[in-house]
Amino acid sequence: MSLLEIKDLHISIGDKPIVKGVTLTIKQGEVHAIMGPNGTGKSTLAKAIAGHPDYIITDGEVLLDSRSVLAMQADERARAGMFLAFQYPSEIPGVSIANFLRAAVQSRMTEGEELDAAGYYKRLYAKMDMLKIDRKFTARSVNEGFSGGEKKRCEILQMAILEPKFALMDETDSGLDIDALRIVADGVNTMRGPGLGVLLITHYQRLLDYIVPDYVHVMWDGRLVKSGDKSLALELEAKGYDWVKKELAAATV
Ligand code: ADP
Ligand code: MG
Repeated sequence: MSLLEIKDLHISIGDKPIVKGVTLTIKQGEVHAIMGPNGTGKSTLAKAIAGHPDYIITDGEVLLDSRSVLAMQADERARAGMFLAFQYPSEIPGVSIANFLRAAVQSRMTEGEELDAAGYYKRLYAKMDMLKIDRKFTARSVNEGFSGGEKKRCEILQMAILEPKFALMDETDSGLDIDALRIVADGVNTMRGPGLGVLLITHYQRLLDYIVPDYVHVMWDGRLVKSGDKSLALELEAKGYDWVKKELAAATV
């Protein structure tokens, strides 16, 4: 079983500290949700782990089976079994989804290893059937003119074909309508199992009605200040983030 360990991670943008010491261990097979109000550093955490160059790790580590993820290039991270879903995926005009995914699968193979095209398409179509995606979909250019829901579908299909050990998904505040939410939820639920660990970052309690997490963590001012099981998400829904704020204020008096 693989482990993804985030250890006392500190992240700055420019010289401004945003994430101020996050520690979290995710086992393969578990779904962890990080929730929190806007501006608390959730996306910063996701982007830094994805290797975004603007986000400076000032302290701490991220380990995948004891290997430093932070020391790896983005493609190495993928080969090691990480999948990082983008909040705002890029459009790649002229490149079909089928070819894009094929290149992604190919790039994860070791040098000299040849991709078997027939086998690839068989696997692709099996994944598409599993996710109930129309065959016509993969002939379209990657994300070009896609709706929010279609972008999510493309992202989920990438995840399915790459079969990562860990998926980090930042499903932030804007642009996720109920259809897109369902696509993400159905996709994650379909792929959920002992081989997949998920870190699901969301502002929405509602997403957690569809993807029931094993653990819920609340992020506040760059730290995980509260952890629990799925009931914590329900408690947050009922009491709002002000409740966490009051608890924190009471604890520091
Ligand atoms: P969340 O995802 O929890 O809403 P973010 O990680 O997006 O929060 O943002 C945390 C803080 O970092 C906010 O104060 C935001 O203004 C700041 N921030 C995020 N991205 C940048 C950036 N590229 N440049 C400067 N400040 C940023
Ligand atoms: Mg965000």
